[in-house]
Amino acid sequence: MYVKPTKDKAEADITTHQKNPYDIVKNLLKDSVTSLGMNENIYHLLKKPMRVLEVSIPIRMDNGNIRNFTGFRSQHLDILGPTKGGIRFHPDVNVDEVKALSIWMSLKSAILDLPLGGGKGGVIVDPDELSERELETLSRSYIEMITPIIGPQKDIPAPDVNTSPEVMGWMIDEYDKLRGYNIPGMLTGKPIIIGGSEGRLSATGRGVVFTIREAAKVLDIDLNESTAALQGFGNVGSMTAKFLYELGVKIVGITDASGGIYCEDGFHIPKLLSFVREGGVLSEYQEAESLSNEDLFGLPVDIFIPAAVENQITENTAPAIQAKIVAEAANGPTTPEGDKILEEKGTFVIPDILCNAGGVTVSYFEWVQNAMNFYWKEEEVNQKLEERIVEGFQNVLKLKEKKHIRMREAAYSVGIQHIVKAFEARGRTK
Ligand code: GLU
Repeated sequence: MYVKPTKDKAEADITTHQKNPYDIVKNLLKDSVTSLGMNENIYHLLKKPMRVLEVSIPIRMDNGNIRNFTGFRSQHLDILGPTKGGIRFHPDVNVDEVKALSIWMSLKSAILDLPLGGGKGGVIVDPDELSERELETLSRSYIEMITPIIGPQKDIPAPDVNTSPEVMGWMIDEYDKLRGYNIPGMLTGKPIIIGGSEGRLSATGRGVVFTIREAAKVLDIDLNESTAALQGFGNVGSMTAKFLYELGVKIVGITDASGGIYCEDGFHIPKLLSFVREGGVLSEYQEAESLSNEDLFGLPVDIFIPAAVENQITENTAPAIQAKIVAEAANGPTTPEGDKILEEKGTFVIPDILCNAGGVTVSYFEWVQNAMNFYWKEEEVNQKLEERIVEGFQNVLKLKEKKHIRMREAAYSVGIQHIVKAFEARGRTK
């Protein structure tokens, strides 16, 4: 018998609106198109990914049973170049999330003037529940299922939440076997020995810290005297911590899915990194007091860095934030309601599509090196990354100051204007 949901419809709509990243990004696109004085048709050109594929991935588990996983790949727009973006393995993956993430990828590339469009993939899975053999089989089968729509000139995957260079190694191996030859540029974030780029693993965190450094200049904050709180200690969070520490920033609070830690004097990040690298769980780190995720938001710090997943800075958590800078290392960490509260407080928000664009930038460099079959030294990669990020930041800042808008609106505007130029050049706006 069908049981009517008890939730009031209006209430359900509000919840969906707050939490659905695809609704959030569509609203942001619409508002930006309007404030840029562009025709509404532009919004209609931008609002939907050009192609979204859903695949079924049946895997024989170690116990002999078949489990059928669901995966997606969304390709937003390829008018500036092949689509590009990571693949995430997470239990909360869903089609709307993947669509939103692919639109954000388009905007990131556009802001940094990379000749790429936006793509994103995901599989609904908790990788912690899988054995290594099951994870490898899943990674290989997912790539096999999306093979018809990817390729170095079509759509180029990369790591994202819970996918590592090792996972990329399995995926490229499967793709090469299916195609019958070695195609290094079909994905990025690979192990260096098979065509990965120096500096890729640390690129997103490095980029985040370049944007924080630029924001600190704007606000006249001396980083050497400043403090930070960090949510997430995966690849992006841990690399961000490393580079902030090198700039003299005291990181006093860190949380991840296991719990959180606090140290008033600031953590010795290299020590913490080796603890985690050796298999230690963040919440079990000895030289710290424990800290709840809720309390992280209220720490009296200068910089707050969400480096985990979406929807963390909300109407519930934003009121506690005291930081002058919020650096969105994660994709979509702030809901519109949370953002409004930060706006009222006058917080300087470095939006995700600018803050974390260092990863795709070095992925682009990796793809270029694969095409040349000639590889750069790490210093060269890092220097090129710095140039791109600083230029992107300055372009967004200039527009922010000229139009007296916020960094997020300015970043969307810079990205959209760039994409629209490509639409115009192709005669698609007439
Ligand atoms: N997953 C990363 C992101 O969200 C990197 C994508 C890439 O390197 O293509 O930006």
